[in-house]
Amino acid sequence: MPRPDPLRIGVIGGGVGGLVAAIQLAAKGHAVDVFEQGERVGGKLNRTILDGSTFETGPTLVTMPFVLDEVFAAVGARRSDYFTLLPVDPACQYRWSDGSRLDLPFSHEDVITAIEQFSPGQGVRARAYLDHARSVYELTKDIFIFGEFNGLGEFFKRRNLPLLPSLLKLRPLSTLHDHNRSSFTDPRLVQLFDRFATYNGSSPFRAPATLMVIPWVEIGFGAWYPLGGMHAIADALERLAREVGVRIHLQTGVARIHVERGEASALELTDGARISVDHVISNADVSVTRRKLLGMASPLPKDPSCSGLVLQISTDSADKGLAQHNILFCDDYRAEFDAIDNGLYPHPDATIYISRSCAADASLASAGRENWFVLVNAPARGSGSHDGDATASVWTGHAEERAELVLRRMERFGLRPHVHAMNIRTPDTMASEWSTDRGSLYGASSNTPWSAFLRPRQRSREVKNLWYVGGSAHPGGGIPLVATSGMIASRLLLTASQSSL
Ligand SMILES: Cc1cc2nc3c(=O)[nH]c(=O)nc-3n(C[C@H](O)[C@H](O)[C@H](O)COP(=O)(O)OP(=O)(O)OC[C@H]3O[C@@H](n4cnc5c(N)ncnc54)[C@H](O)[C@@H]3O)c2cc1C
Repeated sequence: MPRPDPLRIGVIGGGVGGLVAAIQLAAKGHAVDVFEQGERVGGKLNRTILDGSTFETGPTLVTMPFVLDEVFAAVGARRSDYFTLLPVDPACQYRWSDGSRLDLPFSHEDVITAIEQFSPGQGVRARAYLDHARSVYELTKDIFIFGEFNGLGEFFKRRNLPLLPSLLKLRPLSTLHDHNRSSFTDPRLVQLFDRFATYNGSSPFRAPATLMVIPWVEIGFGAWYPLGGMHAIADALERLAREVGVRIHLQTGVARIHVERGEASALELTDGARISVDHVISNADVSVTRRKLLGMASPLPKDPSCSGLVLQISTDSADKGLAQHNILFCDDYRAEFDAIDNGLYPHPDATIYISRSCAADASLASAGRENWFVLVNAPARGSGSHDGDATASVWTGHAEERAELVLRRMERFGLRPHVHAMNIRTPDTMASEWSTDRGSLYGASSNTPWSAFLRPRQRSREVKNLWYVGGSAHPGGGIPLVATSGMIASRLLLTASQSSL
């Protein structure tokens, strides 16, 4: 039998999802080209050098590390030969304005002990909460995360029938906040478990309680950090991609997907070059792909996941009792999310996240300095759009005064940094740098029980040989999920083309 010709596959974007799909397909012998408009691969998982230190631009923490292991193992490689993951212990330090503080350890059992010590009587509640969340994760993972997800029909597939009697366990009709309130009597712990809704840009006051799986995966599988900084993951994926034959074209934007008789035939690059393809994988936002690259009149998500204001601050190295990851909670969480929902920003009492990656790897900060990555949630609405079709941005000319509000809030915790150098990244930066819809970080939010059902799947409905990967597609945002989207897309593409060389 003659070997079939390799497929010509064009991947738009070198974020984690795009690289993972490219690796899987090139390893099967296909001709894969990745076109990345930025000067480095990684997308949101990227780095900035400032004042001699390295700063993250997006993710600061790895969860579900076994997903990355699988990406490498599927092509016969070993993740640990490419980068080292360190356990983060404590996983996170939480502070409240009343002076209370909880260091949440790395391991599940230690978490329960720490919660009991922090608030007597809550340890047993934490155990019950996490046991429940674990069972929801086990029940749903193959449908909502690792499978291709075909909507309601999934629940009636023979292999998923055992799930039907357990559906109520998922608590899809309660909000995460209501579930947390019925699980803990200490409001600080309610707030702590509420915060996990922000991991996919949602509000705990609107998102379904099913999102309880997020704290479970962080606590159950641990919080991890790569030696050398988060971008070590992108470097490793790039190395593996090149080893299996992927051609990576940096600073090469795609302007258009040409479609003939319902099939993508070519990619048009921003320099005018035309590349013929058998399949296209888009790692760009789904709504941006539809509107800008396909020229469709597709509506933008009505309820986008939130964006963020990031301050990259080079500060003195002085012991302030902080951990690597730290949360300074606001006093009225509902008011903070109401403000985000209404597109109002800044909220003067915002919850602040501080990541100090130098605590894990001292080489990331220059001598005598710490590299603080400070993040507050911000609404995507009101931000500038990647393609200029939104109203004027609320950020233009206001970034510095809003950064100052965040610094003032940090001052109330005794944590105002002495700033040697600072970069401010607003939702506009995110919209323009990564071509995301209004700077939203994960496409549509997960604020309703049916969000997962409406999230675009890997297979495009409009173009036969177009596949979506990345945070705006199924199963959603976050490194393990976008890597999973790349694995699913490559599997489906191979099946659809009945081609495994
Ligand atoms: C502030 C912040 C904090 C986060 N924290 C965490 C965390 O702690 N842990 C975690 O797991 N996740 C976190 N995330 C989420 C995680 O970073 C993302 O979900 C993930 O990295 C997105 O990967 P992706 O595959 O969707 O691709 P993206 O990162 O969105 O990359 C898409 C790429 O496509 C390129 N592109 C777009 N359009 C074109 C075009 N027309 N032509 C060429 N190239 C194009 C873009 O330049 C970009 O490089 C965070 C994100 C942010 C922003």
